[in-house]
Amino acid sequence: MIYSDVLGHMQRNLDDELERLRASGSRSDAIVEELRLANFRLREMSHTDELTEVGNRRSFDLRAPREISRSSRFGHAFSLLMIDIDGFKKFNDEFGHPKGDAVLRALGALMRSASREGDVPCRVGGEEFAFILPETGKADGLVFAERFRRRVESSVMAPDSLNPITVSIGLAAFPQDGRNSDEIVWAADEALYESKRAGRNRVTAYPRKSDEVPARLTRVFLERASDESTPCASGI
Ligand code: GH3
Ligand code: MG
Ligand code: MG
Repeated sequence: MIYSDVLGHMQRNLDDELERLRASGSRSDAIVEELRLANFRLREMSHTDELTEVGNRRSFDLRAPREISRSSRFGHAFSLLMIDIDGFKKFNDEFGHPKGDAVLRALGALMRSASREGDVPCRVGGEEFAFILPETGKADGLVFAERFRRRVESSVMAPDSLNPITVSIGLAAFPQDGRNSDEIVWAADEALYESKRAGRNRVTAYPRKSDEVPARLTRVFLERASDESTPCASGI
């Protein structure tokens, strides 16, 4: 074999080898990309409620403290809505569990469509939901909550459209209603309880009305406290 043939042969071997390397390289790139996507999808799935396609409890437990500490660090406002379907047990008893599931799905879809960029809608329990609203102060949170409540009432329909599905909502905001996630969740739950107590299908912002001591009572208390030597609030 003459010299140029040997070189040509070596060149072809090298090209073949490079092609093989390139192919296996792009194969491994593709595998890495596939794994990355699969991992992303898995992570999404593990944070998403299967029925309603909003965040699940795990997602809520991760995101709420994270968003609050972010708000605290940057001095931003933050609102949390706790949402509970009214009289859902009766609904299930009357129309059956599958129809109840359809209502939960419709509510999840409504939450997703009502979400603005950065908002985090979650299902935190059976028929309990939450909206994490970063960068949202109490006044704006209230407007959002009331609009959402009305949208549920007018668009999530029971099988007999005479009875619309309704929700009760409790709202708490950072920083005025709590310093950390536990306190804000507690405050929003208290406000939700007040919405239920007051008749359902309404929005209540923490603090509940009953937590605010009217000025008149404060005055009576102070007068009594100075009359009696022990400053005890009982009996007021
Ligand atoms: P309230 O207005 O006080 O909230 O009354 P309620 O009946 O909604 O509350 P309660 O806690 O008594 O009942 C909640 C019901 O939610 C009971 C349960 O059957 C229903 N529920 C919880 N998870 C699911 C679910 O995944 N699918 C369906 N269809 N129903 C569910
Ligand atoms: Mg409930
Ligand atoms: Mg309920």
